[in-house]
Amino acid sequence: MDRIVYRTCPLCEATCGLEIEVVDDRVRRIRGDMANPFSAGFICPKGSTLKQLHEDPDRLRTPLIKENGSHRPATWEEAFALIAERFGAIVEAHGRSALAIYVGNPNVHQLDNTLGIRPLIKSLGTQNVFTASTVDQMPKHVSAGLMFGHPLNIPVPDLDRTDYLLMLGANPFESNGSLATAPDFPGRLEKIRSRGGKLVVVDPRRTKSAAIADRWIPVRPGTDAGFLLALAQVLFQEERVELDGFADLAEGLDRAAEVVAPFTPEAVATFTGIDPETTREVARELAAAPSAAVYGRIGTHTVSFGTVASWAVDLLNAITGNLDRPGGAMFPLAAHLPPSRKGRAFRTGRWHSRVKGFPEVLGELPVATLADEIETPGEGQVRLLIIVAGNPALTTPDSGRLEKALESLEFMVSVDPYLNETSLHADVVLPAPSALERSHYDLAFTGLSVRDFSAYSPQVFEGTGMAEFEILVRLTAIALGMGADADPDQLAGASLMAVVQEAVSNPESVVAGRDPAEILSLLGDRPWPEKFLDLLLRLGHRGDGFGADPAGLSLAQLEANPHGIDFGPLVPRLHQILVTDSGKVDLVPEQIAADLPRLLEQIGRTPDEELLLIGRRQLRSANSWLHNVEVLMKGKERCTVQINPDDASRLGVADGARVKVASATGQVELPAEVTADISRGVVSIPYGWGHGLAGSRMVVASARPGVNTNILTDGGSIDPLSGNAVLNGIPVTVTAPAQV
Ligand code: SF4
Repeated sequence: MDRIVYRTCPLCEATCGLEIEVVDDRVRRIRGDMANPFSAGFICPKGSTLKQLHEDPDRLRTPLIKENGSHRPATWEEAFALIAERFGAIVEAHGRSALAIYVGNPNVHQLDNTLGIRPLIKSLGTQNVFTASTVDQMPKHVSAGLMFGHPLNIPVPDLDRTDYLLMLGANPFESNGSLATAPDFPGRLEKIRSRGGKLVVVDPRRTKSAAIADRWIPVRPGTDAGFLLALAQVLFQEERVELDGFADLAEGLDRAAEVVAPFTPEAVATFTGIDPETTREVARELAAAPSAAVYGRIGTHTVSFGTVASWAVDLLNAITGNLDRPGGAMFPLAAHLPPSRKGRAFRTGRWHSRVKGFPEVLGELPVATLADEIETPGEGQVRLLIIVAGNPALTTPDSGRLEKALESLEFMVSVDPYLNETSLHADVVLPAPSALERSHYDLAFTGLSVRDFSAYSPQVFEGTGMAEFEILVRLTAIALGMGADADPDQLAGASLMAVVQEAVSNPESVVAGRDPAEILSLLGDRPWPEKFLDLLLRLGHRGDGFGADPAGLSLAQLEANPHGIDFGPLVPRLHQILVTDSGKVDLVPEQIAADLPRLLEQIGRTPDEELLLIGRRQLRSANSWLHNVEVLMKGKERCTVQINPDDASRLGVADGARVKVASATGQVELPAEVTADISRGVVSIPYGWGHGLAGSRMVVASARPGVNTNILTDGGSIDPLSGNAVLNGIPVTVTAPAQV
């Protein structure tokens, strides 16, 4: 029967609404949902490829078990029995410190995973927890945690109302935005200008986002922190600081003036490559704009001073009076959360990594040190690794070394829809269903959204395999010692009951004192993820409170509104979310102040690198996920090294020639793309490429493999406050063809 299904695209943080036309039980067409009040019909080229991903013949439909070096199909029973046997043996021989888990970025884009991954991590009982956050946004969590008390107290730019946006290390024209959920982010940027506002982009490349901006300011890779602190220094020196409405909620203003004082525009100019007058102009514009927001993303985070830069972004938002006000940087409140945050102030370093002593952050260790933990013998050596929806063999630093380390593990399990560069090392691969076989709700990105919006996505097709939620519950049962045959319904039911009981025993909860059995019965007969979701929504600040507010939000209400519900623009709420020890915004957290001498020392050095490597985001890629989709891989070669014409001429590199790019950790060969859109002294290679390894089964990706830029990045180089890998600003050499 023909039908239309509306759902949210799970392929990036923009969360666009899709209209999916199904004919004869196959997708005929996917287009933007014009009636979705948040995305209003916008989609990018990736959004329509959910069909190709679902139908991809390379997508795994049965579990695989590795025998004699190659994978064979297996039943689910066989696969879980083998996992239970090997898990038990390794724990018995070496203890739980021999276990590790890596959680990839797609986990936050799926309801099943956001609900199922935490219990799995907890059940493992190990400190060896690694995620994609430490090759991405961990600096933002740390700076938010230290300033505002909670790592998810992340302010987002109020794109639709701001008069001035200063954007660093972000390219929403390709990425569609990150840590700021906004469908049609590019359109929202253009509207800033069309309503008379101003967009300033700071980036080593003249990206598409920079090209449409009022001003592009090229910056030396890895130096955003210096530029941002120089802006703050100018604001203090010229007495342009204004906390506006939240002065009573902030502490440390004098200390801020003191710590930024050495970072004058002149002092940082050689380091950043930005002339002092430009810095002063931007500082004055920021201060003078009726409203303004500073927004930094991956280019500011994946560098040696990522946390300092991330803090400096919000320090600027604060001292220009733009924090927590319309048009400035505001704090979203996801519908499934209570109206205010509770809990203890954020801490890091509760434990340290065994080999290099890196501090724990957010319950995890830097993925840059995963290879160390696998390769280094001794008590606590990682012998069993579970990977859920991740491809660290391509996406984490010094990945050539990590690949060898994965092969040396005693046992590895991968939950993944593909036999890719990482899962090919797994002893057991458990296939995750396609996005169209799942229901969905964005628990993560509703907390980063520039408008208050909720939408639920039903399954488009019945799953033919095992739901990922059940896969995760079964792994959790094995980790808890319940064996491969444990009843997943029993475990899921017990954990749902635990959440209900916690709610009814909380005197501040809307269901305080009510009968848990009654609450459970009101959740009806649904799959477990939907029951959890309904519970969270009804207990959240917009929820119906199980009858307390009959007009309030519930899953049923979202089902009755298939295009989603727009609750309007963000509202000031800083006073509700601060959970610092003092109850105030800590403008200068001591941990961050203690890292400033390291930055000053760097600034004092004369740069001597010939070329610095940076990454590159591409519209038709999403990390390494989508390279097996033919329609996205068409066209000219995208995995190129971009180089400025002056550098190319100096090095004898012609456009299109294959060149060798080498760093301290490795080398790759790929075509050169000579373009004036990249600064002198900088080269750029896109990330997520390097397919076609023997043993992988991704036919389309293997035909256009590209090179893995993480062969060039260094596993020993991290931002010390967050543990985030340094993936930008890597010293490299480029060698022309005759010398290759
Ligand atoms: S912008 Fe992101 S969410 Fe929107 S269609 Fe593209 S991939 Fe999907």
